Amino acid sequence: MNFIFRSTSLLFMGLVIFGLNTANAKEGMWIPTLLNALEGDMQSMGLRLSAEDIYSVNHSSLKDAVVHFGGGCTAEMVSSEGLLLTNHHCGYSQIQYHSSVENDYLKNGFWAMSRDEELPNPGLTATFIERIHDVTERVSKALEGLEGEELANARKQLYEEILSEFTEGTDLTGGVVSFDFGNQHFLITKRTFLDVRLVGAPPSAVGKFGGDTDNWLWPRHTGDFSVFRIYASADNSPSEYSDMNVPYKPAHHFPVSIDGVSEGDFTMIFGFPGRTEQYLSSDAVSHVIDRLNPMRIAMRDISLATINAARASSDELRIAYASKQSSISNAWKKWAGQTDGLKELHAVQKKLDLESEFLSRAKEAPVPDPSYLSAISDIQKANEEYFPYLESRSLFIELVYYGPDILLHAFEFADLIEDWSSLESSGKLQETIEYLKGVNSDYSRNYNATVDEDLLGGLVESYLGFVSQELAPADLQVKFDKAGSADEYSETFFKNSIFDNPEELAILLEKGKEKSFAKLKKDPAYELVMELRSNYFEKISPGYRAGVASIEEATATYTRGLRELFPERLFPIDANSTLRLTYGKVEGSSPHDGMKYEPLTTARGILQKYIPGDADFDLPSDLVAELEDADWGRYADSNNDLVICFTGSNHTTGGNSGSPVINGDGYLVGINFDRSWESTMSDILFDETRCRNIMVDIRYVLWIIDKYAGASHLVDEMTIIDSVK
Ligand code: ASP
Repeated sequence: MNFIFRSTSLLFMGLVIFGLNTANAKEGMWIPTLLNALEGDMQSMGLRLSAEDIYSVNHSSLKDAVVHFGGGCTAEMVSSEGLLLTNHHCGYSQIQYHSSVENDYLKNGFWAMSRDEELPNPGLTATFIERIHDVTERVSKALEGLEGEELANARKQLYEEILSEFTEGTDLTGGVVSFDFGNQHFLITKRTFLDVRLVGAPPSAVGKFGGDTDNWLWPRHTGDFSVFRIYASADNSPSEYSDMNVPYKPAHHFPVSIDGVSEGDFTMIFGFPGRTEQYLSSDAVSHVIDRLNPMRIAMRDISLATINAARASSDELRIAYASKQSSISNAWKKWAGQTDGLKELHAVQKKLDLESEFLSRAKEAPVPDPSYLSAISDIQKANEEYFPYLESRSLFIELVYYGPDILLHAFEFADLIEDWSSLESSGKLQETIEYLKGVNSDYSRNYNATVDEDLLGGLVESYLGFVSQELAPADLQVKFDKAGSADEYSETFFKNSIFDNPEELAILLEKGKEKSFAKLKKDPAYELVMELRSNYFEKISPGYRAGVASIEEATATYTRGLRELFPERLFPIDANSTLRLTYGKVEGSSPHDGMKYEPLTTARGILQKYIPGDADFDLPSDLVAELEDADWGRYADSNNDLVICFTGSNHTTGGNSGSPVINGDGYLVGINFDRSWESTMSDILFDETRCRNIMVDIRYVLWIIDKYAGASHLVDEMTIIDSVK
């Protein structure tokens, strides 16, 4: 990789940010250490704080109340006693984990009325960012002139060196993270808490109101929130779950404003956006539209047909498959919207136009930079080789990680099956058996062999239909063809496997005989998952990784070139699961001819959507009564309505789920949870006229907690700002 340190282009990046044109300030997920450059723009839109109030290493700031929740979502601290808010869909697997047919928290909601009723969640983490520090200059200088493996090794070592300089002797973790395809590097240190307890969740009829039908759509009426509390040791530091732990005292918690929002109000979203791909080249966007999305959607169509039918058939299955269904359907629906949006906005043509303008400007430069002249063709050459690997990898993930549970469960036993004697000689055998007893018992809670069997055949058939033959396990097609049909393949497979039977596995683990586990080497589930994995690591992963590296190298040149050759335009840095701030306004949109989306919805819309008995739009009768009663108390707006959700022009993506929506004073006014259908392409192409994020109004959240659930002790813990009344 060409890692020449370009002080001029880095300086240039700074200039671009300083010279920011406010007209398109809404696009971009900003690194919090760069906010000084945006302070003026934000203030002109309604921010009444300074950049230092938002992010500071010297004193407490808003960033200290922002939490990376479970590694995939965002949450925010709302009390000095560890209370946090996130989305219902972010806490969904924990709510499911504690639910049973007898205690159906998914359906009825859950409220801890005292601290000792709060429920622990093994494995759930809450992470705070301690510091973000730009080390680009140091890294770039040290790596100058290195290439290939030498570069990769040197970079790894340097990253570790920098990390230990900042964290040795502390309880901090973190690492150096590369941004913008390796053009920038930031050290990020963090503190992760391990005892995070469930405090409250509304019924799914509130938290997931509208279900898959309304997901990714506006107008919306979903109370997508849940409540957790972080616990720490007596000295306020991270600790594994213990009943000696005490509520964590954050350096900052958000005051909660019940003054409400109106169209045009400034909003900012502080959180952990996962991944955007704004710099995909034109051929890569075509590939998403024509190949990648259709194949992933087709695989998920198959899973959803089975899982949705199963969930509708019994309460037990509704609970058991809640989380799996949501994670499959969420991206499935987004991909469909993304494809539509990319087509409607002529994304491929827009990318082509930019690429050709880039080339002409590169050629016309006083001293043309040869790396700019070849950047686009380099990306496209690399893409051509990379696409089959990308497809095979996606298909592998769809089959193994989103497909039948039997495959990953079989893989859990690999050590016992393959390495019994080394486990024995290292004294780890018993520990491994005990661990697997736990894994197997968790598996048995949600596992249903009939549903799983139904998933397997169709998914393997679909996988084989899409994957390039050279990148598939050698004899999978032969085995599948031999079975005669997808159903027969599944039937024989499940008849001959033990991994669909947790009770039998529990007996084997109890007996602990080497021979019985050695025999499982021939179990069809174990055989298939091992074949798929070794096929992945031998045939797919090397090509995939090489492709990613070449594309990254060429794209780093391309984005540097874009910033240099188009000084009048803004090219924000892609999201990479690090802490970012995005800002905009409460704003509706008009993505369809002849109609306008208002920015706010009210309780009236919940009753309008209510369909008794419907899976997505049913409501508990006591909620219907309260909504009809319309006694909103101090949560009412000036029209005496209860605002439920609102949209804004803040640039967000997955991972921003649960993020605090903050007003100009730094107060919490909502929780981010979604984007509109017409925005689903924004990870690849942002369009400021139509891209809108969807937030639940904090007054609806508080009304549910306080009035509907009667958990007013939680609201009492918060710092409520009520300056209007
Ligand atoms: N609802 C979305 C998600 O779950 C959040 C977003 O992407 O805007 O990923």
